[in-house]
Amino acid sequence: MRTVWVLGDQLNRGISSLEGCDPAGTRILMVHARAKIRSKGFHPLRLALVRDAMTAFAGDLRAEGFDVDEREAAGFAAGLRAHRRAFGPGEVVAMEPMSWDGLRMLERLGVRAVRANQFLCHYEDFASWAAERGGRLRMEDFYREQRRRLGYLMDGDAPAGGRWNLDHENRDPPPRDGGTWRRVAPGWSSTRRGALARLRSFVAHDLPRFGTHQDAMLDDEWRLAHAVISPYLNLGMIHPREVCDAVEEAYRAGAVPIASAEGFIRQVIGWREYVWGVYWLRMPGMRDENALGADRPLPPALTGAPTRMRCVASAVEGVERRAYAHHIQRLMVLGNLGLLAGVRPSEMVDWMWESFIDGAEWVMIPNVIGMALHADGGRMMTQPYAAGGAYINRMSDHCGGCAYDPKRRTGDDACPFTTLYWDFLARHEERFTGNPRMARQVQGMRRLADLPAVRERAAEVLTALDRGDL
Ligand code: SF4
Repeated sequence: MRTVWVLGDQLNRGISSLEGCDPAGTRILMVHARAKIRSKGFHPLRLALVRDAMTAFAGDLRAEGFDVDEREAAGFAAGLRAHRRAFGPGEVVAMEPMSWDGLRMLERLGVRAVRANQFLCHYEDFASWAAERGGRLRMEDFYREQRRRLGYLMDGDAPAGGRWNLDHENRDPPPRDGGTWRRVAPGWSSTRRGALARLRSFVAHDLPRFGTHQDAMLDDEWRLAHAVISPYLNLGMIHPREVCDAVEEAYRAGAVPIASAEGFIRQVIGWREYVWGVYWLRMPGMRDENALGADRPLPPALTGAPTRMRCVASAVEGVERRAYAHHIQRLMVLGNLGLLAGVRPSEMVDWMWESFIDGAEWVMIPNVIGMALHADGGRMMTQPYAAGGAYINRMSDHCGGCAYDPKRRTGDDACPFTTLYWDFLARHEERFTGNPRMARQVQGMRRLADLPAVRERAAEVLTALDRGDL
Protein backbone atom coordinates (compact mmCIF):
# COMPACT_ATOMS: atom_id res chain seq x y z
CA MET A 1 0.00 0.00 0.00
CA ARG A 2 1.30 3.45 -0.75
CA THR A 3 0.78 6.73 1.05
CA VAL A 4 -0.32 10.06 -0.40
CA TRP A 5 0.78 12.89 1.87
CA VAL A 6 -1.69 15.76 1.56
CA LEU A 7 -0.24 19.09 2.69
CA GLY A 8 -2.29 21.77 4.44
CA ASP A 9 -2.71 23.92 1.33
CA GLN A 10 -3.70 21.07 -0.99
CA LEU A 11 -7.18 20.43 0.36
CA ASN A 12 -8.95 19.28 -2.77
CA ARG A 13 -9.96 15.86 -4.09
CA GLY A 14 -8.79 16.93 -7.54
CA ILE A 15 -5.10 17.38 -6.61
CA SER A 16 -2.75 15.49 -8.91
CA SER A 17 -1.36 13.25 -6.15
CA LEU A 18 -4.86 11.82 -5.56
CA GLU A 19 -5.71 11.27 -9.21
CA GLY A 20 -6.72 7.66 -9.80
CA CYS A 21 -6.31 6.74 -6.12
CA ASP A 22 -8.72 4.40 -4.39
CA PRO A 23 -9.04 3.38 -0.75
CA ALA A 24 -7.84 -0.16 -1.46
CA GLY A 25 -4.40 0.92 -2.63
CA THR A 26 -3.80 4.28 -0.96
CA ARG A 27 -3.57 5.54 2.59
CA ILE A 28 -3.65 9.30 3.26
CA LEU A 29 -1.26 11.13 5.56
CA MET A 30 -1.92 14.61 6.94
CA VAL A 31 0.46 16.21 9.45
CA HIS A 32 -0.26 19.10 11.80
CA ALA A 33 3.34 20.17 12.46
CA ARG A 34 3.91 22.13 15.67
CA ALA A 35 7.19 23.58 14.36
CA LYS A 36 5.39 25.03 11.34
CA ILE A 37 2.57 26.43 13.46
CA ARG A 38 5.09 28.11 15.77
CA SER A 39 7.47 29.25 13.03
CA LYS A 40 5.78 32.66 12.89
CA GLY A 41 3.30 34.66 14.91
CA PHE A 42 0.43 33.47 12.72
CA HIS A 43 -2.97 35.08 13.22
CA PRO A 44 -5.16 32.79 15.36
CA LEU A 45 -7.91 32.89 12.69
CA ARG A 46 -5.46 31.62 10.10
CA LEU A 47 -4.21 28.81 12.32
CA ALA A 48 -7.78 27.80 13.10
CA LEU A 49 -8.79 27.88 9.42
CA VAL A 50 -5.88 25.70 8.28
CA ARG A 51 -6.36 23.20 11.12
CA ASP A 52 -10.12 22.94 10.68
CA ALA A 53 -9.98 22.83 6.89
CA MET A 54 -7.45 19.97 7.05
CA THR A 55 -9.68 18.07 9.45
CA ALA A 56 -12.76 18.73 7.30
CA PHE A 57 -10.96 17.45 4.20
CA ALA A 58 -9.73 14.39 6.11
CA GLY A 59 -13.41 13.77 6.93
CA ASP A 60 -14.37 13.99 3.24
CA LEU A 61 -11.69 11.46 2.35
CA ARG A 62 -12.77 9.10 5.14
CA ALA A 63 -16.34 9.33 3.88
CA GLU A 64 -15.00 8.05 0.55
CA GLY A 65 -13.50 5.07 2.36
CA PHE A 66 -9.88 6.19 2.68
CA ASP A 67 -7.85 5.39 5.76
CA VAL A 68 -6.56 8.83 6.81
CA ASP A 69 -3.67 9.12 9.22
CA GLU A 70 -4.17 12.68 10.47
CA ARG A 71 -1.54 13.23 13.10
CA GLU A 72 0.04 15.91 15.21
CA ALA A 73 3.83 15.92 15.34
CA ALA A 74 6.75 18.10 16.39
CA GLY A 75 7.53 18.73 12.71
CA PHE A 76 6.83 17.38 9.22
CA ALA A 77 9.82 15.01 9.28
CA ALA A 78 8.81 13.61 12.66
CA GLY A 79 5.23 13.13 11.44
CA LEU A 80 6.38 11.29 8.34
CA ARG A 81 8.82 9.14 10.35
CA ALA A 82 6.06 8.11 12.75
CA HIS A 83 3.74 7.32 9.84
CA ARG A 84 6.38 5.18 8.14
CA ARG A 85 7.01 3.32 11.41
CA ALA A 86 3.30 2.71 11.92
CA PHE A 87 2.31 1.69 8.40
CA GLY A 88 5.49 0.90 6.41
CA PRO A 89 4.16 2.28 3.09
CA GLY A 90 5.78 1.03 -0.11
CA GLU A 91 6.08 4.58 -1.32
CA VAL A 92 5.14 8.06 -0.14
CA VAL A 93 4.08 10.58 -2.75
CA ALA A 94 2.88 14.16 -2.47
CA MET A 95 1.88 16.89 -4.85
CA GLU A 96 4.59 19.53 -5.20
CA PRO A 97 4.32 21.94 -2.26
CA MET A 98 3.51 25.59 -2.84
CA SER A 99 6.85 26.74 -1.41
CA TRP A 100 10.47 26.52 -2.43
CA ASP A 101 11.53 25.17 0.98
CA GLY A 102 8.66 22.68 0.94
CA LEU A 103 9.89 21.14 -2.30
CA ARG A 104 13.43 20.82 -0.90
CA MET A 105 11.93 19.18 2.19
CA LEU A 106 10.19 16.48 0.15
CA GLU A 107 13.46 15.72 -1.64
CA ARG A 108 15.27 15.41 1.70
CA LEU A 109 12.61 13.11 3.13
CA GLY A 110 12.54 10.78 0.12
CA VAL A 111 8.97 11.67 -0.87
CA ARG A 112 8.18 11.52 -4.58
CA ALA A 113 6.76 14.83 -5.77
CA VAL A 114 3.98 14.85 -8.37
CA ARG A 115 3.63 17.88 -10.65
CA ALA A 116 1.21 20.39 -9.10
CA ASN A 117 -2.14 21.10 -10.76
CA GLN A 118 -3.46 23.80 -8.43
CA PHE A 119 -2.70 26.57 -10.91
CA LEU A 120 -3.73 26.95 -14.51
CA CYS A 121 -0.14 27.60 -15.61
CA HIS A 122 2.50 25.41 -13.97
CA TYR A 123 5.60 27.32 -12.93
CA GLU A 124 7.77 25.35 -15.38
CA ASP A 125 5.51 26.50 -18.22
CA PHE A 126 5.74 30.05 -16.89
CA ALA A 127 9.54 29.74 -16.94
CA SER A 128 9.42 28.55 -20.57
CA TRP A 129 7.18 31.51 -21.47
CA ALA A 130 9.62 33.85 -19.71
CA ALA A 131 12.62 32.32 -21.50
CA GLU A 132 10.95 32.70 -24.90
CA ARG A 133 10.53 36.38 -24.19
CA GLY A 134 14.13 36.84 -23.14
CA GLY A 135 13.08 37.46 -19.55
CA ARG A 136 10.65 40.30 -20.34
CA LEU A 137 7.86 39.55 -17.94
CA ARG A 138 5.02 41.99 -18.54
CA MET A 139 1.98 40.87 -16.60
CA GLU A 140 -0.30 42.12 -19.37
CA ASP A 141 1.44 39.86 -21.95
CA PHE A 142 1.16 36.86 -19.67
CA TYR A 143 -2.49 37.62 -18.96
CA ARG A 144 -3.41 37.81 -22.65
CA GLU A 145 -1.56 34.57 -23.28
CA GLN A 146 -3.58 32.94 -20.49
CA ARG A 147 -6.86 34.28 -21.93
CA ARG A 148 -6.01 32.88 -25.36
CA ARG A 149 -4.80 29.55 -24.02
CA LEU A 150 -7.61 28.98 -21.53
CA GLY A 151 -10.35 30.59 -23.60
CA TYR A 152 -11.86 32.75 -20.86
CA LEU A 153 -13.82 35.79 -22.09
CA MET A 154 -12.86 35.11 -25.68
CA ASP A 155 -15.00 35.49 -28.79
CA GLY A 156 -12.98 33.42 -31.20
CA ASP A 157 -9.52 34.99 -31.30
CA ALA A 158 -10.72 38.33 -29.96
CA PRO A 159 -11.33 39.41 -26.38
CA ALA A 160 -15.02 39.54 -25.41
CA GLY A 161 -16.23 43.12 -25.50
CA GLY A 162 -13.42 44.11 -27.86
CA ARG A 163 -10.74 45.02 -25.31
CA TRP A 164 -8.33 42.91 -23.29
CA ASN A 165 -8.14 45.07 -20.22
CA LEU A 166 -10.74 47.40 -18.73
CA ASP A 167 -8.71 48.41 -15.71
CA HIS A 168 -9.21 52.13 -16.23
CA GLU A 169 -12.98 51.58 -15.81
CA ASN A 170 -12.36 49.87 -12.48
CA ARG A 171 -10.72 52.68 -10.58
CA ASP A 172 -13.65 54.79 -9.51
CA PRO A 173 -13.62 56.31 -6.04
CA PRO A 174 -16.34 55.17 -3.65
CA PRO A 175 -19.82 56.63 -4.28
CA ARG A 176 -20.20 60.06 -2.65
CA ASP A 177 -22.72 58.77 -0.12
CA GLY A 178 -20.63 55.66 0.55
CA GLY A 179 -23.13 53.46 -1.32
CA THR A 180 -24.93 50.43 0.01
CA TRP A 181 -23.05 47.20 0.29
CA ARG A 182 -24.20 43.71 1.10
CA ARG A 183 -22.84 42.64 4.45
CA VAL A 184 -21.60 39.11 5.00
CA ALA A 185 -20.52 37.55 8.28
CA PRO A 186 -16.74 37.85 8.64
CA GLY A 187 -16.40 34.15 9.54
CA TRP A 188 -14.08 31.98 7.44
CA SER A 189 -15.47 28.61 6.38
CA SER A 190 -13.34 25.50 6.87
CA THR A 191 -15.34 23.37 4.45
CA ARG A 192 -15.38 23.17 0.68
CA ARG A 193 -19.14 23.48 0.81
CA GLY A 194 -18.79 26.81 2.65
CA ALA A 195 -16.11 28.00 0.22
CA LEU A 196 -18.32 27.17 -2.78
CA ALA A 197 -21.29 28.93 -1.15
CA ARG A 198 -19.16 32.09 -0.79
CA LEU A 199 -18.13 31.87 -4.44
CA ARG A 200 -21.74 31.43 -5.59
CA SER A 201 -22.95 34.28 -3.42
CA PHE A 202 -20.23 36.58 -4.74
CA VAL A 203 -20.98 35.79 -8.38
CA ALA A 204 -24.73 36.17 -7.92
CA HIS A 205 -24.82 39.33 -5.82
CA ASP A 206 -21.50 41.21 -5.81
CA LEU A 207 -19.71 40.53 -9.06
CA PRO A 208 -21.93 42.83 -11.15
CA ARG A 209 -20.62 45.81 -9.17
CA PHE A 210 -17.17 44.44 -8.33
CA GLY A 211 -15.44 46.22 -11.17
CA THR A 212 -16.17 49.90 -10.77
CA HIS A 213 -15.28 50.36 -7.13
CA GLN A 214 -12.75 47.60 -6.59
CA ASP A 215 -10.05 50.08 -5.53
CA ALA A 216 -12.28 52.00 -3.09
CA MET A 217 -11.84 51.99 0.71
CA LEU A 218 -14.47 52.83 3.31
CA ASP A 219 -14.24 53.15 7.09
CA ASP A 220 -17.37 51.12 7.78
CA GLU A 221 -17.21 48.55 4.98
CA TRP A 222 -14.46 45.95 5.17
CA ARG A 223 -15.55 43.94 2.13
CA LEU A 224 -17.41 46.22 -0.31
CA ALA A 225 -17.91 43.95 -3.34
CA HIS A 226 -14.75 41.86 -2.90
CA ALA A 227 -15.11 38.11 -3.20
CA VAL A 228 -13.03 37.18 -0.12
CA ILE A 229 -12.34 33.74 -1.57
CA SER A 230 -8.53 34.07 -1.59
CA PRO A 231 -8.02 31.87 1.51
CA TYR A 232 -10.02 29.11 -0.13
CA LEU A 233 -8.06 29.35 -3.36
CA ASN A 234 -4.75 29.45 -1.50
CA LEU A 235 -5.58 26.40 0.63
CA GLY A 236 -6.72 24.53 -2.48
CA MET A 237 -10.33 24.22 -1.25
CA ILE A 238 -11.56 25.64 -4.54
CA HIS A 239 -9.72 25.62 -7.86
CA PRO A 240 -9.13 28.71 -10.04
CA ARG A 241 -10.87 26.93 -12.91
CA GLU A 242 -14.08 26.62 -10.88
CA VAL A 243 -13.92 30.31 -10.03
CA CYS A 244 -13.34 31.44 -13.62
CA ASP A 245 -15.98 29.05 -14.99
CA ALA A 246 -18.56 30.57 -12.64
CA VAL A 247 -17.62 34.11 -13.70
CA GLU A 248 -17.64 33.24 -17.40
CA GLU A 249 -21.05 31.61 -17.07
CA ALA A 250 -22.51 34.68 -15.33
CA TYR A 251 -21.07 36.95 -18.03
CA ARG A 252 -22.44 34.80 -20.86
CA ALA A 253 -25.85 34.77 -19.16
CA GLY A 254 -25.85 38.57 -19.31
CA ALA A 255 -25.83 38.90 -15.51
CA VAL A 256 -22.45 40.62 -15.22
CA PRO A 257 -20.94 43.53 -17.18
CA ILE A 258 -17.72 42.85 -19.06
CA ALA A 259 -15.73 45.31 -16.89
CA SER A 260 -16.53 43.30 -13.76
CA ALA A 261 -16.02 39.89 -15.34
CA GLU A 262 -12.75 40.94 -16.98
CA GLY A 263 -11.45 42.69 -13.88
CA PHE A 264 -12.05 39.61 -11.78
CA ILE A 265 -10.76 37.03 -14.27
CA ARG A 266 -7.62 39.17 -14.66
CA GLN A 267 -6.95 38.90 -10.92
CA VAL A 268 -7.28 35.11 -11.02
CA ILE A 269 -5.68 33.94 -14.28
CA GLY A 270 -3.50 37.02 -14.70
CA TRP A 271 -2.12 38.47 -11.53
CA ARG A 272 -2.42 35.44 -9.22
CA GLU A 273 -0.80 33.04 -11.66
CA TYR A 274 1.82 35.60 -12.66
CA VAL A 275 2.84 36.04 -9.03
CA TRP A 276 3.08 32.27 -8.63
CA GLY A 277 5.29 31.98 -11.72
CA VAL A 278 7.55 34.87 -10.70
CA TYR A 279 8.00 33.35 -7.23
CA TRP A 280 9.36 30.08 -8.62
CA LEU A 281 11.43 31.82 -11.27
CA ARG A 282 13.25 34.06 -8.81
CA MET A 283 13.51 31.96 -5.70
CA PRO A 284 15.47 31.55 -3.54
CA GLY A 285 17.18 34.89 -4.22
CA MET A 286 14.01 36.98 -4.32
CA ARG A 287 13.31 36.74 -0.59
CA ASP A 288 16.52 38.64 0.23
CA GLU A 289 16.15 41.43 -2.30
CA ASN A 290 16.32 44.99 -0.97
CA ALA A 291 17.18 47.24 -3.89
CA LEU A 292 16.25 50.47 -2.09
CA GLY A 293 18.38 49.61 0.94
CA ALA A 294 15.37 49.86 3.27
CA ASP A 295 16.41 49.25 6.87
CA ARG A 296 13.60 50.50 9.12
CA PRO A 297 11.97 47.98 11.47
CA LEU A 298 8.27 47.23 11.13
CA PRO A 299 6.33 50.22 12.52
CA PRO A 300 4.47 49.57 15.81
CA ALA A 301 1.36 51.02 14.11
CA LEU A 302 1.12 47.78 12.13
CA THR A 303 1.47 45.53 15.14
CA GLY A 304 -1.02 46.95 17.59
CA ALA A 305 0.15 50.42 18.67
CA PRO A 306 -2.68 52.95 18.31
CA THR A 307 -2.26 55.36 15.41
CA ARG A 308 -3.95 58.62 14.46
CA MET A 309 -3.57 57.77 10.76
CA ARG A 310 -7.16 56.79 10.06
CA CYS A 311 -6.42 54.83 6.89
CA VAL A 312 -3.78 52.74 8.65
CA ALA A 313 -5.95 52.23 11.74
CA SER A 314 -8.85 51.05 9.57
CA ALA A 315 -6.72 48.54 7.64
CA VAL A 316 -4.96 47.25 10.77
CA GLU A 317 -8.26 46.89 12.60
CA GLY A 318 -9.46 44.67 9.74
CA VAL A 319 -6.31 42.59 10.01
CA GLU A 320 -6.71 42.17 13.76
CA ARG A 321 -10.42 41.34 13.67
CA ARG A 322 -10.65 39.29 10.49
CA ALA A 323 -7.07 38.60 9.36
CA TYR A 324 -8.06 40.42 6.20
CA ALA A 325 -7.63 43.67 4.30
CA HIS A 326 -8.49 44.02 0.64
CA HIS A 327 -5.90 44.51 -2.09
CA ILE A 328 -5.87 48.31 -2.17
CA GLN A 329 -5.57 48.53 1.62
CA ARG A 330 -2.63 46.13 1.39
CA LEU A 331 -0.95 47.90 -1.53
CA MET A 332 -1.76 51.58 -1.17
CA VAL A 333 -2.03 51.93 2.62
CA LEU A 334 0.02 49.25 4.38
CA GLY A 335 2.50 48.55 1.58
CA ASN A 336 2.73 52.21 0.62
CA LEU A 337 3.58 53.14 4.22
CA GLY A 338 6.31 50.48 4.21
CA LEU A 339 7.67 51.74 0.89
CA LEU A 340 7.68 55.43 1.79
CA ALA A 341 9.12 54.84 5.27
CA GLY A 342 11.74 52.35 4.04
CA VAL A 343 10.69 49.31 6.06
CA ARG A 344 12.90 46.24 5.69
CA PRO A 345 11.26 44.09 2.98
CA SER A 346 11.80 40.81 4.82
CA GLU A 347 9.97 42.16 7.89
CA MET A 348 7.08 43.33 5.77
CA VAL A 349 6.88 39.96 4.01
CA ASP A 350 6.83 38.12 7.33
CA TRP A 351 4.22 40.41 8.85
CA MET A 352 1.83 40.09 5.91
CA TRP A 353 2.43 36.36 5.64
CA GLU A 354 1.60 35.71 9.27
CA SER A 355 -1.20 38.28 9.62
CA PHE A 356 -3.44 37.60 6.64
CA ILE A 357 -5.92 34.75 6.35
CA ASP A 358 -4.65 34.00 2.82
CA GLY A 359 -0.94 34.48 3.54
CA ALA A 360 1.69 32.23 1.97
CA GLU A 361 5.30 32.71 1.01
CA TRP A 362 4.58 32.48 -2.73
CA VAL A 363 1.95 35.19 -2.35
CA MET A 364 3.86 37.59 -0.17
CA ILE A 365 7.36 37.56 -1.63
CA PRO A 366 6.39 38.77 -5.12
CA ASN A 367 3.58 41.03 -3.88
CA VAL A 368 5.68 42.70 -1.19
CA ILE A 369 9.23 42.54 -2.60
CA GLY A 370 8.30 42.94 -6.26
CA MET A 371 5.21 45.09 -6.11
CA ALA A 372 4.57 47.01 -2.89
CA LEU A 373 8.14 47.79 -1.76
CA HIS A 374 9.90 47.92 -5.14
CA ALA A 375 12.63 45.90 -3.46
CA ASP A 376 13.50 44.00 -6.64
CA GLY A 377 14.65 47.25 -8.22
CA GLY A 378 11.80 47.31 -10.74
CA ARG A 379 12.19 43.87 -12.32
CA MET A 380 8.53 43.11 -11.73
CA MET A 381 7.00 46.59 -11.75
CA THR A 382 8.78 49.34 -13.64
CA GLN A 383 7.51 52.02 -11.28
CA PRO A 384 7.06 51.99 -7.49
CA TYR A 385 3.52 52.16 -6.12
CA ALA A 386 4.27 55.31 -4.11
CA ALA A 387 1.44 57.71 -3.33
CA GLY A 388 0.77 60.58 -0.99
CA GLY A 389 -2.41 61.37 0.94
CA ALA A 390 -4.15 62.74 -2.17
CA TYR A 391 -4.56 59.24 -3.60
CA ILE A 392 -5.96 57.81 -0.35
CA ASN A 393 -8.24 60.82 0.01
CA ARG A 394 -9.61 60.29 -3.49
CA MET A 395 -10.19 56.57 -3.06
CA SER A 396 -11.57 56.47 0.49
CA ASP A 397 -13.57 58.24 3.15
CA HIS A 398 -10.76 57.91 5.70
CA CYS A 399 -9.27 61.38 5.51
CA GLY A 400 -12.39 63.23 6.65
CA GLY A 401 -12.14 61.62 10.08
CA CYS A 402 -8.37 61.72 10.36
CA ALA A 403 -6.18 63.82 12.64
CA TYR A 404 -4.02 64.68 9.63
CA ASP A 405 -4.68 66.74 6.51
CA PRO A 406 -3.94 64.96 3.22
CA LYS A 407 -3.17 68.29 1.49
CA ARG A 408 -0.48 69.37 3.92
CA ARG A 409 3.13 68.25 3.71
CA THR A 410 4.60 70.31 6.55
CA GLY A 411 3.40 71.13 10.04
CA ASP A 412 2.13 68.95 12.87
CA ASP A 413 -1.08 68.04 11.08
CA ALA A 414 0.56 67.22 7.73
CA CYS A 415 -0.48 63.83 6.37
CA PRO A 416 2.43 61.43 6.96
CA PHE A 417 1.84 59.86 3.54
CA THR A 418 2.09 63.22 1.80
CA THR A 419 5.22 64.27 3.67
CA LEU A 420 6.92 60.90 3.23
CA TYR A 421 5.99 60.70 -0.45
CA TRP A 422 8.06 63.78 -1.31
CA ASP A 423 10.84 62.72 1.04
CA PHE A 424 10.90 59.28 -0.61
CA LEU A 425 11.37 60.86 -4.04
CA ALA A 426 14.14 63.08 -2.68
CA ARG A 427 15.88 60.16 -0.94
CA HIS A 428 15.87 58.12 -4.15
CA GLU A 429 16.21 60.98 -6.61
CA GLU A 430 19.29 59.56 -8.28
CA ARG A 431 17.72 56.16 -8.89
CA PHE A 432 14.40 57.49 -10.19
CA THR A 433 15.84 60.25 -12.37
CA GLY A 434 16.73 57.62 -14.95
CA ASN A 435 13.25 56.04 -14.88
CA PRO A 436 11.04 57.60 -17.58
CA ARG A 437 7.87 56.58 -15.72
CA MET A 438 9.04 58.52 -12.65
CA ALA A 439 10.33 61.63 -14.43
CA ARG A 440 7.20 63.71 -13.85
CA GLN A 441 7.10 62.91 -10.13
CA VAL A 442 10.81 63.66 -9.66
CA GLN A 443 10.39 66.95 -11.51
CA GLY A 444 7.48 67.80 -9.23
CA MET A 445 9.61 67.12 -6.16
CA ARG A 446 12.42 69.34 -7.49
CA ARG A 447 9.99 72.19 -7.95
CA LEU A 448 8.84 72.19 -4.32
CA ALA A 449 9.94 75.48 -2.82
CA ASP A 450 9.54 74.10 0.71
CA LEU A 451 11.44 70.85 0.15
CA PRO A 452 13.91 71.48 3.03
CA ALA A 453 10.98 71.95 5.43
CA VAL A 454 9.27 68.83 4.03
CA ARG A 455 12.39 66.79 4.64
CA GLU A 456 12.70 68.15 8.15
CA ARG A 457 9.08 67.18 8.83
CA ALA A 458 9.73 63.75 7.27
CA ALA A 459 12.53 63.13 9.77
CA GLU A 460 10.11 63.92 12.61
CA VAL A 461 7.45 61.67 11.05
CA LEU A 462 9.87 58.76 10.78
CA THR A 463 10.99 59.17 14.40
CA ALA A 464 7.35 59.24 15.53
CA LEU A 465 6.56 56.21 13.35
CA ASP A 466 9.38 54.24 14.99
CA ARG A 467 8.16 55.27 18.44
CA GLY A 468 4.57 54.26 17.65
CA ASP A 469 3.42 57.83 18.13
CA LEU A 470 1.99 58.94 14.79
FE1 SF4 B 1 -4.32 58.49 5.83
FE2 SF4 B 1 -3.21 60.92 5.49
FE3 SF4 B 1 -5.78 60.49 4.90
FE4 SF4 B 1 -5.00 60.50 7.42
S1 SF4 B 1 -4.91 62.23 6.02
S2 SF4 B 1 -6.40 59.04 6.46
S3 SF4 B 1 -2.98 59.57 7.27
S4 SF4 B 1 -4.01 59.56 3.91
